[in-house]
Parts: sequence; structure tokens; C-alpha cells
Amino acid sequence: AAPRLAAPAAPAPLAEALTDEQALLAAPGPLNARLSANENPFGPSDKAKQAILESVTSCYQYPMQSRELIQKIADYEGLTPAHIMLDAGSSPLLLAAAMHFGQQGGIITGDPSYADLPRKAEKFKSPIVAVPLTADYKLDLDAMEKKVDARTALVYICNPNNPTGTVLDAAKLKAFTARVSQKVPIFVDEAYIDYLPDPRAASLMDAVKQGQNVMVARTFSKLYGFAGLRVGYLVAQPDTIVALSKYAVGPMSISAPAVRAAVVSFQDQAYMQDALKKTLASKQFLYDLLKREGYDYIPSATNFVMFPLKMDGKRFVEEMGKRGVSIRNWEFNNQQWCRVSIGRMDEMQAFAAAFTQVS
Ligand code: PMP
Repeated sequence: AAPRLAAPAAPAPLAEALTDEQALLAAPGPLNARLSANENPFGPSDKAKQAILESVTSCYQYPMQSRELIQKIADYEGLTPAHIMLDAGSSPLLLAAAMHFGQQGGIITGDPSYADLPRKAEKFKSPIVAVPLTADYKLDLDAMEKKVDARTALVYICNPNNPTGTVLDAAKLKAFTARVSQKVPIFVDEAYIDYLPDPRAASLMDAVKQGQNVMVARTFSKLYGFAGLRVGYLVAQPDTIVALSKYAVGPMSISAPAVRAAVVSFQDQAYMQDALKKTLASKQFLYDLLKREGYDYIPSATNFVMFPLKMDGKRFVEEMGKRGVSIRNWEFNNQQWCRVSIGRMDEMQAFAAAFTQVS
């Protein structure tokens, strides 16, 4: 392991923003549209709901189906159970990686990108190297590669990227990973990959299969629609899984209803296609609204859209919040931005009504 490093001289220059949870709490009254946490308001499948209800009767028992879920994932990905770790959402898996690698050296990340892992690593005195996005709002893989040196413990790649909704060119990402993972481990956060037309083509699961030093994090909180139940998994080399498991409670950290819901939902294509179709319809409504109102936006591969504001971001969040609409703001490239999660059509209409008043 690399030697432990001294604290960085200056605070890491990550873009400042509220967390999803803080943004939700910031709205003063009841919400008409909860569009700040990239949830999937179409919820879990009917099969998952049924499984949750059935599991309630036996909830005095410890959850026993983690093995079944791990095996299902292993079979689908062509890997072994030793490559897979489950936890209560992907957040605890990001925390495990932050603790393990953050104590060894620095984290290279994009900016803006999902800041959870680097921010947690920072608490272990890990220096954060924040690399600005390219002109088309994607992670700048070339610039990130140039930052890799003897002090680097981990490269964190969020693909598709939160908050921009952009996705990396698969061939480019795979070539980057094959090269860079020979020097340092790579953590790919694929929380939103299920929203892509061909998630398998975009995913780095194959890199794990080929034995590369790559970790892939997935979650049931987004397209699968049960963020409130908490299930996520990490796929990596078995020695990495052993190392990260030191920081985890283990399979008992996931409740029985959550594991049951995940078992019946995993790769349920009929449900996934239906949720995707509804998401795309709401996203098109938002694109049309923004165009009509004279706003640009970053074309999104995900269930959220980022667009540049024409007013102060904090004031925008407050004014929208007063109208029962919760969204998030960012500031980067000397520009104020709003990120809107894609909701149900009634939520998008509530957003539109508030937006035409506030903007
Ligand atoms: N990764 C990314 C990129 C996310 O946006 C989120 C949720 N906002 C997470 C991980 C964590 O989600 P969960 O713990 O619910 O899996």
C-alpha cells in the first residue's frame, strides 16, 4: 500500500452544493414535485411491491436471501459470488471505498460530479484532485489520466455523470480503464446506467471479468424505483471485495423486504422498459418547456437534466421551493445551474407552472 499522505494544504476545490437530502429539507412546505434527489417516482414494479408485502409477515426472521441475490447478479454478469458485495444502497459501498482508499492516498474525481465518495475520503485526510469537465460537460478522461501519480489511491468515475447527465464514450472509457487500472484502482459509479439504451455496452462489468483492477457500483435506488428500501451492490476482484468488506456490516445490513424486492426486480425487462418509457415522456416534456422558455440544457442520458439559469441559483431554489417544487442548484464555469430530476407528468406540470412564474 502507498504511504499515508499529509493533509492537503488547501481545501479541495470541489464545486459546492447542497446534498440531495439537504435540498429536500430546504423546501418549506408540502411538495407538489419532488425533483431534487433523482428518485424514480414510478416506484417499484408490482411484483416487487407484492414481494415486499409478503416478506412483512416473516420480518421477525433475519434476512436470508442475500445469497440468492448475489448468485443472481453473478449469473447475469458471468462472475462468481466472490466478486460481489451487497449493502444498504450504494452509499455504504462508496463509504467503504472512501475509507479503504482514502487512507492510502488521493482520489481523482471529475468536477462537478457525484461528490459523496471524495467528500468521505477527505475525512480520512485524502487529498482530492478535482478535474474540470470537458467543454461538452463530460468527465475529462485525458486530464484525469494526467493527474495519476504515486500519490493517487483511486480514480472515481461517475458514468453517467451526476449532475450533468452525460455519458462517456464506451470505447474511450474502456481503453482508459485498461491502461490506467494497471497503475491505480478505478471505481466506476454506475447508479444511472440502467437509463441507457444499452447498459451492458456502456458498463465496465467486462473490465472486472477480464481481471482489471476496477470496481463497479450499482443501485436499486434509481430505475428499479426503491431508494427508500436501500439495496446496492459492488462488483470487483475478489481480493478487493475482501478488503472493502472490512468496512461493512455484511449481508444482514439489508432488510428482508429490500432483499426480496431486489431478487424479484433484478433485470425485470418488462418493468424496466415501462419505467424508461414514462421517464422519457416526462423528459421530453421538460426539454420542450425549456426550449419554449428560451433556455438551453445539457442533453441527458439519465433521469435528471441540468440547465443554465438566468438568475441566482439559491434564489431560484427558494422561489421554486415556496411553490412546492424541490430542485437543486450548482455553480460552475462561472454559471448558475439547475438540476431537475425527471418526475411523473403531474410533477413536471407543477415544475412548469412554478418555472414560468419564477424564471
Ligand atoms: N451514486 C450516485 C451517482 C448517486 O447519484 C447516488 C444517489 N444520489 C448514489 C450513488 C447513492 O445512492 P444509493 O445509496 O441510494 O444507492
